[in-house]
Amino acid sequence: MTDPFLKLFIIIIGYVIVLFILRFLGFGKKQVCENCNNCCPDCSFALKRIQRKKQDKIFYHLTLRIFNLKRYRCAECAWQGLKWEEKYRP
Ligand SMILES: [Zn+2]
Repeated sequence: MTDPFLKLFIIIIGYVIVLFILRFLGFGKKQVCENCNNCCPDCSFALKRIQRKKQDKIFYHLTLRIFNLKRYRCAECAWQGLKWEEKYRP
């Protein structure tokens, strides 16, 4: 277990597993409520799509593009952040 490449490999595998667990748990996923199909986590008002920032694109690649991340903003409480949705619905 002193091989640095093996350690790096284990870290990468662990990172990928954590990402898939977060995806499975629906972490950062779009929230659906009775008012809309994408609502604010703070006030349940409908979110509006806004342009992604440079760091959002870096983050998107760092998470191995398994999250279909888009930036949204709430018009009511000024909440802003990234949300993702599943590309294909069953
Ligand atoms: Zn809000």
